[in-house]
Amino acid sequence: MDAQGNAKHSTLPPIDAHVHIVGNGLGGSGCWLRVGTWHRPLAAFMLHHIGVGVSMRAPGFDEAYANHLAKLVRESSLGAAVILAQDEVYDEAGQKLNFGSFYVPNDYVLQLAREHPEFLPAVSIHPGRADALNELDRCLEAGAVMLKLLPNCHNVDCNAARYRKFWERMAEARLPLLAHTGGEHTVPVVQKRFSDPRTLRLPLECGVTVIAAHSGTKSGLTDPDYFEDFCDMLTEYPNLYGDTSAFNVPIRGRHVRACLEAGVTERLVHGSDYPVPVYGHWAWAQRFIGWNDFRRCERLTNVLERDYQLKVAMGFSEEYFTRVHSLLRRTAAVERLGVQKPGLAVRG
Ligand SMILES: [Zn+2]
Repeated sequence: MDAQGNAKHSTLPPIDAHVHIVGNGLGGSGCWLRVGTWHRPLAAFMLHHIGVGVSMRAPGFDEAYANHLAKLVRESSLGAAVILAQDEVYDEAGQKLNFGSFYVPNDYVLQLAREHPEFLPAVSIHPGRADALNELDRCLEAGAVMLKLLPNCHNVDCNAARYRKFWERMAEARLPLLAHTGGEHTVPVVQKRFSDPRTLRLPLECGVTVIAAHSGTKSGLTDPDYFEDFCDMLTEYPNLYGDTSAFNVPIRGRHVRACLEAGVTERLVHGSDYPVPVYGHWAWAQRFIGWNDFRRCERLTNVLERDYQLKVAMGFSEEYFTRVHSLLRRTAAVERLGVQKPGLAVRG
């Protein structure tokens, strides 16, 4: 409620809660990018798909990527995008490992969010770092709205008792955790077993609001599919949510019908997984959307808008697009969103 006693939820704009920042660091962002020979064509394809128009090896790439993303958000139905930092990989002893394909420092996403009103900053901190709690406090102070981890790629055993303090501090600060679940094929995996949503029990028991990215769905044909386990956990943990990121690539989106059912749909938030490509072919082939919606969405060059419109066409509710407002840490930037851009009517 605002000062006039009006309920704000009626004017909340949709938020894309799963948007990646990448950078090569040549312009001083602090990011790094290590794209192996096999992933180079895939990375080039993704950048072409989103329309950045600058080579990922160019000194101006980081700035171009961020500016392009801000423009896509501005020109879409979205009120904001939660942009994700990406921490480095650490071992059990808290030693940094020379592993991973990209790094995005917390300071960089915090800075981008200060510069662009379209962005809300999600930081990334491996809880095994010697300075994990200090870094968490520093990021809270700087306005973090969420914390992102890929337990399987970052090598985080979330259920390890030694991380309890870290989760408790997050719960106390009401900072939600966006944790990757299910297989992963664009970032190298350290521990396959940490793809299981059951690996998130300890943060959930500590009272952290956890958003299981991809809702436990599998990304490769041979991966285990944890969607059913994720659904079972929803009844057990009222503070567990899921997102629909990368549902517009084949395989991940196979559970759309179940995602629209009561009991599950009230616990999902909108996310695209930008710059992961967005195609309507799969949704159309599975009859999640009709031909006209498929054609209409394919004509949208703004991939954030395309993902949004495809999910509208699939039948996701207005609440689904705005739900994350109630899960994000209430910073001034989050509060401002509720009054700035009125929510757009969802086209059915
Ligand atoms: Zn992602």
